[in-house]
Amino acid sequence: LTRQEEYYVIILGLDNAGKTTLLERIKTIYTGVRGLSPDKIGPTVGLNIGKIDIDRSRIKFWDLGGQRELHSIWERYYPESHGIIFVIDATDRERLEECRKTFENIMKQDEVEGVPVLMLANKQDLPVAMAVEEIKEVFNKIAYGLGARDSKVLPVSALAGDGVRDAVEWLHTRLQ
Ligand code: GDP
Repeated sequence: LTRQEEYYVIILGLDNAGKTTLLERIKTIYTGVRGLSPDKIGPTVGLNIGKIDIDRSRIKFWDLGGQRELHSIWERYYPESHGIIFVIDATDRERLEECRKTFENIMKQDEVEGVPVLMLANKQDLPVAMAVEEIKEVFNKIAYGLGARDSKVLPVSALAGDGVRDAVEWLHTRLQ
């Protein structure tokens, strides 16, 4: 019997960024079980969870609600987290500053020091989406500013599934 390593990854970001859609997409890709269809997905109020197995690892995802009132709950999960996915709505320039501030606040927490952080520039299927380079300029500054961080920005479409596998693979390699 081979031992299975278990990891916890929290999915954070503003409301409407696409966190729930991403988690459902991950579940569909890795478990073959179709998650909630996009039209059934509403704002996350509590917590959506999902687990997948890759090689000998089991990764458990926690999709935490994005509304501002829920941000204080996020920090309860930091001590347990092996990885963070921060989902950015790349089409929403109006909330980019709010998004940046939110990310900065997460990165300031002592508990997330040393935890790999994957930033996802989501909704790349839409032509108005900011390119990953543009997102990098805004978010990498924060990640690097806070020390040598294991961080990455990747483009995805949670809805169409593009880039989602690459994203999970990157995180998986950083979790071991
Ligand atoms: P959450 O609040 O962060 O959990 O966001 P949701 O997963 O509920 O998604 C918010 C809205 O964005 C929904 O209408 C989704 O269908 C839409 N959405 C999420 N990901 C994508 C994407 O990759 N492309 C497009 N076009 N829409 C997306």
